[in-house]
Amino acid sequence: MFSVVSPLTRLPLTRVPFSYRLPTSSLPGLRFLNGAAPMSSQSSVTPTVPLESQQPVNQLPRLESDGTSHRWRPMCLYCTQDKCTKMDDPFHLEKFNHDFAKDVRVNDVDLGSMPPQDMDYFLVLDLEGKVEILEFPVLLIDAKTLDVVDLFHRFVRPSQMNEQRINEYIEGKYGRFGVDRVWHDTAISFRDVVDQFESWLSKHQLWAKEQGGKLDRAAFVTCGNWDVKTKIPQQCRVLKMKLPPYFMEWINLKDVYLNFYNRTARGMMAMMKQLEIPAFGSHHLGFDDTKNITRVLQRMLIDGAEMKITAWRHPKFPDKVHFLFENRI
Ligand SMILES: [Zn+2]
Repeated sequence: MFSVVSPLTRLPLTRVPFSYRLPTSSLPGLRFLNGAAPMSSQSSVTPTVPLESQQPVNQLPRLESDGTSHRWRPMCLYCTQDKCTKMDDPFHLEKFNHDFAKDVRVNDVDLGSMPPQDMDYFLVLDLEGKVEILEFPVLLIDAKTLDVVDLFHRFVRPSQMNEQRINEYIEGKYGRFGVDRVWHDTAISFRDVVDQFESWLSKHQLWAKEQGGKLDRAAFVTCGNWDVKTKIPQQCRVLKMKLPPYFMEWINLKDVYLNFYNRTARGMMAMMKQLEIPAFGSHHLGFDDTKNITRVLQRMLIDGAEMKITAWRHPKFPDKVHFLFENRI
C-alpha cells in the first residue's frame, strides 16, 4: 500500500486519513508537485517514465487483473470517449490505461463517519478552451462510497474557426501533451456533445429531457465558477443554443474549501499541495484535471466537508448569479 504522504513534499507532514490505491509509481505527480514538467500523455508521444519508477532489471512488474503492469500510465483518450479500437492490442494496453477509475479509488477509510450529503452523486467537470470549449470531461462520483461510477469525456470542435486556426489552436493547447492527434480524430461539435451528455445523464437517471429542470440528486462540482457561470453560457450564445437547465446551479469546490479549511487556495494545484495529494497526468489536460479535482473532492468529503450548492442563477435572469458564501474565491 502506498501512502499519499510523500517524503519529497515540501509541506510539513500532517496526519493523512486515507490513501489511494496507487500504482507502485506515483512519481509523475510527485515530480509535478515539486515543480518538474508534467507528464506527456497520448498517442504519438511515448509517455515519459521517470527514472525512479523503472523496475529493477531482475524484478518483474506486478500485474493487474487485465495482465498489464502495475504502474501509472496515461489514459487512453480514445477509450474515455468510447472510441478505442485497440482493446485487443497488448502493446497498446500496456502503454495506456483503460480503467478510468484506477487512479481515483479510495481505500483504508472509514466512510461511515462522513456527514450525510444533500446529493447522491457529484459530477466533477473541468472544461478546457479559452476561446471556445475544446474539451468536456465529467466524472460521476457516488457521494456515499466515493467511487467513480462512470465518466463522460468528449473533445469539442470549435464552430467559429477555420481549419488553419483550429490546427494552430490545438497544436498550441494539446501538442505539448501529445494528444493533438486524438483530439483531431475524435472532436465533435458542442451541440453534439450536449446531446450525448444528456443521453448519458438520462442513462444514469440524473436528468430527463422530457421533464427538464435541474439534475436529480446530483450536482456539478467545479474548481472555480468560470466553467458553468461563464464558459457554458458563452459557448451556447456562440451557437445560439438555449442554456441547458441543469447548468443553473453548481458547487464551486474552492468556495467550500475556503469555508471548510478556512484557508485560500487559488487553484487545483494549490489545494492538492496544501492537502498533500499527489497530482497525476498533465495539468490543463481536462480529463487529468478532472481526476485530480476528484481527488480533492474525495479528500474533503472524508475530512467531513458538506457539499452544498454554492452558486445558482436567477430563474428569470440567468446571468444574475447568487452565491452561498460571503467568503468566495
Ligand atoms: Zn485504447
